[in-house]
Amino acid sequence: MARCEVCGNDYDKTFEVIAGDRHVFDSFECAIHALAPLCEHCGCRVIGHGVESHGRLFCCAHCAAVAGETGLRDRA
Ligand SMILES: [Zn+2]
Ligand SMILES: [Zn+2]
Repeated sequence: MARCEVCGNDYDKTFEVIAGDRHVFDSFECAIHALAPLCEHCGCRVIGHGVESHGRLFCCAHCAAVAGETGLRDRA
């Protein structure tokens, strides 16, 4: 038994994610909430590969282009 560190749910099927530190979650929704970075342009959670340019992270090549980062393509 463990407690989700995001919503506090005490649940018998929690799982751990090691991302530098050890985290405990009861659902992927909570894990994404805690760990997924935000797209710099539209603010959505980047849960796929995302695209990175000059230290900035975007959810897709379109957002990167709109934000002024050119020459990027989705690397799915
Ligand atoms: Zn939770
Ligand atoms: Zn975006």
